[in-house]
Amino acid sequence: MIRNHPRAILLVAGLAVVALTVWQTSRFALQHYLAAGVSRAETALGLTINALEGDLARYEVAPQLLADLDAIRLLVARPDDPVRRAAIDRLLEERNATLQSSDLYIMRADGETIAASNHARPDSFVGQNFSYRPYFRDALAGDAARFYALGTTSGVRGYYFSAPVRDPAGRIAGVIAVKIGVDRIEQSWRGNEYRILVSDPEGIVFMSSEPEWLYGGLLPLTGERRARTAASRRYSEAQLHDLPVTRETAGDIALMRLAAPGQPVSAGRQYIVAEQPMPQAGWTVHVLLDVAGAQAEARVASVTVFLLLCAAAFGGAVLVQRRAQVAERLAFETRAKADLERRVEERTADLERVNIHLEQEITERRATEEELRAAQANLVRVGKLAALGQMSAALSHEINQPLAAARNYADSAAVLIDRGDVPRARENLGHILSLIDRMAAIGRHLRNAARKPNERLEPVSLPALLAETQVIVAGRLASCKATLDLDIPADLPPLRAGATRLQQVLVNLISNAADAVEGRPDRRITLSACVEDGRAVLRVRDRGAGVPPAIAERIFDPFFTTKGVGAGLGLGLSICYNIIRDFGGDITVQDAGPGACFAVTLPLYGPVEAAA
Ligand code: ADP
Repeated sequence: MIRNHPRAILLVAGLAVVALTVWQTSRFALQHYLAAGVSRAETALGLTINALEGDLARYEVAPQLLADLDAIRLLVARPDDPVRRAAIDRLLEERNATLQSSDLYIMRADGETIAASNHARPDSFVGQNFSYRPYFRDALAGDAARFYALGTTSGVRGYYFSAPVRDPAGRIAGVIAVKIGVDRIEQSWRGNEYRILVSDPEGIVFMSSEPEWLYGGLLPLTGERRARTAASRRYSEAQLHDLPVTRETAGDIALMRLAAPGQPVSAGRQYIVAEQPMPQAGWTVHVLLDVAGAQAEARVASVTVFLLLCAAAFGGAVLVQRRAQVAERLAFETRAKADLERRVEERTADLERVNIHLEQEITERRATEEELRAAQANLVRVGKLAALGQMSAALSHEINQPLAAARNYADSAAVLIDRGDVPRARENLGHILSLIDRMAAIGRHLRNAARKPNERLEPVSLPALLAETQVIVAGRLASCKATLDLDIPADLPPLRAGATRLQQVLVNLISNAADAVEGRPDRRITLSACVEDGRAVLRVRDRGAGVPPAIAERIFDPFFTTKGVGAGLGLGLSICYNIIRDFGGDITVQDAGPGACFAVTLPLYGPVEAAA
């Protein structure tokens, strides 16, 4: 799991580094503060020893100086002289006060005290025998001696200096001793951070800043040690005991764990030890400094380092976070820029593609345009030809029939003149003239066929128009033995059209109907008219073959014909269609059972126009 989480690894590694650093710091700091403690303890030891030596030195020569006094020498020569003893007692008392020593006393050669500064006190040394004390024996042997012990009489610890006292004859006849109390020295040791012990060569504590450690053994109290101590009665009746003590080290620093008597050593405190023997005094001075202070200082240093590391880690984390944020923002900006560039490139590529496509299209369009222009030019050419053909065909179509009718009238006029029937011949000539007028009108109309006619539309009365039309188509109807039935309401309103062109339409439709019924059993053609939805509807119906649905749409196209070559030009319906559209009307063909029915819808000539 950790493998997948580099942050967890970093965190664990960081914690390990912090723990290691703090641990190392605590070790080094402890070592450092212990070393500083050792140095301080050694300084304190030096000062203590100096003070002790100074104290002792003050008294060292006192016995020797007193032993040289004649009065004292005389006393040891005659120890039983009460006057002299009393005098020396006072002398000693005075000197003791001057010296500020504990006791000052003189013993005979057998060890019995003959004069003492404390002669007046109940626990006076006078009469006491100290022959067992080493300082007595050494002095009797002729040496200045020193000794420390618990007073057997006074029960007070003291340091003893002694010197031999020679009688006037020069023989050693007594010993003088001065005892110094050590309570005062101990007193000066209390109240500071150091514990101070003084031990004898057997390791027994003789002086101590802590009263409970007195008479305790820093070394195991073996039988030998006890025996040697008992011989000098150094500690009188005092109870000796082993101190709960162990020696330890921290690196190269000597430590001592020391507990109160009767307690397990583990309950004691640990001390830095500085110790030094004082060979002249015959003891060893130990200065103890509790390691708790050094440990506390080391802890403070560790905590400080820990806090500094935490602050550094926090600062580092903030820095890393900031950098990560900056990197993330830069990456985002780079991505956005790259994205933008990519989109711009894509868009540019798209535009290029579109441009290329457009260029292709433009080229194609140009080509198509060229083709169209060519086709258009071609069409115009063809259209002109078509118009020409259409006009020619219309002319022949429309002129041939009146011509044939005129010929018939002329033929019949010649016959009538031969018979002498001049009035009817004149009537025929009138018909011929009207036919000629009509052809002239057709000519006018054809002249206008190429452009949109601006002929003014006028009210056309259908019955009147039909009378003339019937004359035109009579020959054609007769030739095919067809009949034309009219079904025109008498009140049919006038139509809005051009009379000549409408007649042209009707002639065309009737002619086609005649063609259709030619040779068929039922050759009736019906022309009807009515008003439907406000418009006039003219219907030309025949009983011929009808118009097949397949060609119904195409019969109004120019040049569409089903008739044989020379029989039809396919222009009649086309011209009709255009004329009716010019009138604002419509022309359609329907199937009428047997036969076809052409319906022409035309607007009526309204009252507005009539008023105009
Ligand atoms: P054309 O009469 O010269 O053929 P039209 O334009 O007048 O030209 O007529 C076109 C065609 O319409 C005719 O060839 C014919 O096939 C058809 N048609 C016209 N009138 C009728 C009708 N009454 N009955 C059947 N077919 C007709």
